[in-house]
Amino acid sequence: MEALSAKGVRIEEDIASTSGAEPSCSFCGKTQADVLQLIASAGPFICNECVQLCVGIIGTQNPAWLDQHRQFLGTLPLKPRDGDE
Ligand SMILES: [Zn+2]
Repeated sequence: MEALSAKGVRIEEDIASTSGAEPSCSFCGKTQADVLQLIASAGPFICNECVQLCVGIIGTQNPAWLDQHRQFLGTLPLKPRDGDE
């Protein structure tokens, strides 16, 4: 048993107590019901509103990055909306 805990193996009680909680943004705390989209990583979550805020902060402080970001957005396979063009 001592060998297992030394390797960081979690006991089942710990996993159960954290997995029952509703996922929420690790930055603002909003849940999936509060936002358009919640993106999960291996641990933390981030919502679309915080992503947009981060883009604004990074882009304001790094105009060259904002140009790269615009180019990246242009590569996304977006569906055309009705009424465009
Ligand atoms: Zn958020």
